Amino acid sequence: MATFKEFRNNVKPNWCPGCGDFSIQAAIQRAAANVGLEPENLAVISGIGCSGRISGYINAYGFHGIHGRVLPIAQGVKLANRELTVIASGGDGDGFAIGMGHTVHAIRRNLNVTYIVMDNQIYGLTKGQTSPRSAEGFKTKSTPEGSIETTLSPLEIALSAGATFVAQSFSSDLKQLTKLIEEGINHEGFSLINVFSPCVTFNKINTYDWFKENIVNLEQFPDYDPSNRVQAMNKIMETNGLVTGLIYQNKTRKSYEDMITGFKPEALAKQNIKITPEEFDKL
Ligand code: SF4
Ligand code: MG
Repeated sequence: MATFKEFRNNVKPNWCPGCGDFSIQAAIQRAAANVGLEPENLAVISGIGCSGRISGYINAYGFHGIHGRVLPIAQGVKLANRELTVIASGGDGDGFAIGMGHTVHAIRRNLNVTYIVMDNQIYGLTKGQTSPRSAEGFKTKSTPEGSIETTLSPLEIALSAGATFVAQSFSSDLKQLTKLIEEGINHEGFSLINVFSPCVTFNKINTYDWFKENIVNLEQFPDYDPSNRVQAMNKIMETNGLVTGLIYQNKTRKSYEDMITGFKPEALAKQNIKITPEEFDKL
C-alpha cells in the first residue's frame, strides 16, 4: 500500500512560502494513502491559477486544464475510466467565476468526483485582483475603491443545486481537511470541499489569524446532523459562510455513472472494455 510520501513527485512546488496550498497538497496525499489508493488509481485534474499547479506536484495521473474547465475534464476522465479515483482542484476564481456554470451542473450531475477548491478570496496568479469570493469593500488593483459587489456563497449555491456532499475546511487544519477529503473520496457522487487557503502575498485581509478568529468548526455542535439540508443551509447562513466540517451529505442518491445503463460494471464487463495488461501485450 502506498504511503503519503509516494504521492509526492520530485517537482518542487513554486508556491510562495506560507501559501495555504502546500497544506492542501499534503492533505490530498495523506487522504489518498489513508483510503488505500496507489498512484496509478488516482487522477488529479486542475484548473488555472496558483492552485492549478497541484496536478504537476502529485505522483498520480494528472491533467492541468484551462481556466474554469477543470470539471468538464475531470468528469470526462471519470466517465472514460470509472475505476479511477478522480480529484478535481482549482481556485475560487477558476471554479466560482469563469467555471461557475460547470460547477453548478457538475453538482447536479453527481458524478463520483471530489472537487477541492483552494479558496483564497483573490486572484493570486495574476497578482491580486478581486474574485467572486472577495468581501464587499475589498480593495485591490481591480477594485481600488473597494468591491461593490456581493460575495458569492458557493456552499449555499451547492445546496440549492442539489449537492450530495458539501464540506468546508481550512488549510491549517490538516487533520480535519484530510478526513474530509477521505470522506469525499469515499462518497458515492460529487463531493465539493471548499478550503480556505490564505494567499500570503496578495490577500492581507483574510490571513491565517483572521480565519482562526472567524471560523466556526462544526465540532462545537455535537447534535449537528449533516443529513439535514435545511439545517445545513441555516448553519452556512448563520456563520456567514465560515462554518467548517462536513456540512451536508446525502447518502441515498445514486451517482451519475451508477444511473447510466452503459456505465454499470456489468455492462462494461459485457462489452469487454476492461483489458488486462496480459491481454494488452497480445494486441
Ligand atoms: Fe499562494 Fe498567493 Fe503566492 Fe499564489 S500568490 S502561490 S495563492 S501565496
Ligand atoms: Mg483565488
